[in-house]
Amino acid sequence: MAKAEILSVGTELLLGQILNTNSQFLSSGLAEIGIDCYFHTTVGDNKKNISACLQAALNRSDVVIITGGLGPTADDLTCETIAEFFSTPLILDSATLEKIAAFFEQRGIPMAQSNCKQALRPQGADILPNPRGTAPGIIWRLTGSLLSAAGVCHPERDRYLLTFPGVPAEMKSMWRETAAPFLARTFGPGVVWSLDLKHYGIGESTLAEKYAHLLDLSNPTVAPLAGTGECRLRVTAKAATEEQAMALAAPVIAEIREESKELLYGEGDDTLESAIGRLLVEQHFTVALAESCTGGLVSKRLTDIPGSSRYVKLNIVTYSNEAKAQLLNIDEKLLSTDGAVSAACAEAMAEGMHHISGCDIALSITGIAGPDGGSKDKPVGLVYFALSDRESTRSVKKVYPATLTRADIRFRAASDALNLLRLHLLGIAPSQA
Ligand code: ATP
Ligand code: MG
Repeated sequence: MAKAEILSVGTELLLGQILNTNSQFLSSGLAEIGIDCYFHTTVGDNKKNISACLQAALNRSDVVIITGGLGPTADDLTCETIAEFFSTPLILDSATLEKIAAFFEQRGIPMAQSNCKQALRPQGADILPNPRGTAPGIIWRLTGSLLSAAGVCHPERDRYLLTFPGVPAEMKSMWRETAAPFLARTFGPGVVWSLDLKHYGIGESTLAEKYAHLLDLSNPTVAPLAGTGECRLRVTAKAATEEQAMALAAPVIAEIREESKELLYGEGDDTLESAIGRLLVEQHFTVALAESCTGGLVSKRLTDIPGSSRYVKLNIVTYSNEAKAQLLNIDEKLLSTDGAVSAACAEAMAEGMHHISGCDIALSITGIAGPDGGSKDKPVGLVYFALSDRESTRSVKKVYPATLTRADIRFRAASDALNLLRLHLLGIAPSQA
């Protein structure tokens, strides 16, 4: 498998004046054609430094892609540096010069003498045409004698050096029209296909331990990726075609599906809320929500899914005790003895909601999101959830670390509420935190 790397040239990048979007574009472009990219380097407009980066890049990679520094001005040094590195003369490319002259003529602007510089290329390099601007790039296949004369390691392996202007629109069209097809042809057609297997209720390290035997595979690869409260296993395969890549990944995906069971809530673009939506539609169930500490976040997430009106019927944010008592018919005595943040209150909220909504399932949440309002008995991060249906009402208590921000506690509580609902729909009883 060919190894590539990207060298971005420009002092502006180092000064933080512009964001290096070229590297991102080129990296995803390389992935699409199945070429691994191992390094991104950024260097200023300085010959000595560019030359040192070029040396390192050629030593370790088969394909070196340089963007920036191809312009007409004195600080555009890429081409000159490459020619000096390989002790090769720069020659004037007459076809390029004609194109540059035509470019200026069409726009009715006089061509500056400095623009001739853009028609120079190292002897032996091919032109990488630039349909959108004046400076073309080069595609240069470097072979044994040139490499060994320049002191590059392993000169027996050919290298490919490609240059692009820094201007993103020019670089992109050159990549799409010429460079990507060239590299795909040279290194054989290839695609990288991947699928995220999304887990909830298991931490990244536990998941990594469970699947330790898969993490060292090379094709497909399996990588654990942590998110807020959830964790993904990304299975990535490389092959000549998408079908072949999918076939390589299939046994590993089947094993994870089998082993992870209900920990696996979805795949690809699935979210907890879209997975729940699917289950509710399949089972013809409706749901109602009574939220306190999450302030409507669970309702918001459930109704982010298009078509959710089929199963989400009534959501109420009962933030105050009065609202809980009046709208959900909660006994004032319960609120004064157990308090609003209690298993009894969560259960009463769910039951009240079940009763007034007439839905199949009612879900409630009450807790302390902080940063204030905690006590020794009821610390910040304490949250109760309850689910009520025709058969029963059950509550679950969770305690989130008080070091989390208010936003994180609310988000994680909302995700846990969604997960409780999901497990309930799968017929699995909720477990305590
Ligand atoms: P020019 O003919 O414009 O001088 P050039 O090939 O010399 O082109 P640079 O001078 O390095 O390219 O950059 C030109 C412009 O392209 C920059 O001002 C910047 O806006 C943009 N640019 C350069 N490098 C990058 C990059 N890595 N990512 C995103 N934008 C970039
Ligand atoms: Mg420039």
